[in-house]
Amino acid sequence: VLVPTMGALHAGHRSLLEAGRKFAGAHGTLVATIFVNPTQFGPGEDFRRYPRTFADDRKMCGAVGADAIFVPAAEAMYSSDHSVFVEESVLSKGLCGRSRPGHFRGVCTVVSKLFLLFNPQVAVFGEKDWQQLAIIHRMVRDLNFPVRIAGCPTVREPDGLAMSSRNRLLVPAARQAAPGICRALLAIRKEVRGGERRVDKLLRMLAGSLESLPGAKLDYARIVDARSLDPIRFVKSAACALVAVRFGKVRLIDNILLRPPRERI
Ligand code: AMP
Repeated sequence: VLVPTMGALHAGHRSLLEAGRKFAGAHGTLVATIFVNPTQFGPGEDFRRYPRTFADDRKMCGAVGADAIFVPAAEAMYSSDHSVFVEESVLSKGLCGRSRPGHFRGVCTVVSKLFLLFNPQVAVFGEKDWQQLAIIHRMVRDLNFPVRIAGCPTVREPDGLAMSSRNRLLVPAARQAAPGICRALLAIRKEVRGGERRVDKLLRMLAGSLESLPGAKLDYARIVDARSLDPIRFVKSAACALVAVRFGKVRLIDNILLRPPRERI
């Protein structure tokens, strides 16, 4: 069982590792990978600033009973003249793909490499990165990777902020404002539960709440079909609201299922 991460591990990663340990069972092998993958960062993004906390990460992996940690150097993963990439061409275009061109190409490439290196039966990913999870499912289906993808629910701080390695880069005022992202998502889910189905109205509410957070700059707020990631006009089954918000240089993402799909993706 493989749990790919970029390190700076927190309770969200821990839940993936614990799920991985259960999938592997007493006799299976659980491998955590820690690799800040350069190909998924664009120029001017936070590759250099990305937090690196290996001593603590190693402790967490040990505490959850991982059998091994794979921490490759960038040169071990990519030859200096590497020229082959794996690209998903539809789901990757919108949402984070629009703000971060090339990001999902880097993700698909490194995840493919990890799958080929370890040949896992199961690989565990977080629903926090909903678009990523949908893309990995598509990649595995379309390229016939013999692996089962398991999605795990988003783990949050007590105030609702989705756990992220980037949270530690927030200045105190931004850290205080950031739980408003989760509150805004919960508020529109409440509207949906109260019977509101019009996406334009829900999006106005959502964008309004996010734009009013002190210090926040809205990157995007969208409501889409949870599997195809296509825009929708009315909330039916399997609808997901996804947002990205910047606080200074720190970009945070979050999402919520407005109505869950019949089967978990
Ligand atoms: P990252 O280290 O940010 O690349 O994330 C590694 C894996 O952990 C990805 O599958 C993420 O979706 C997942 N993950 C990150 N944050 C959370 C969270 N708060 N709850 C659940 N899973 C998470």
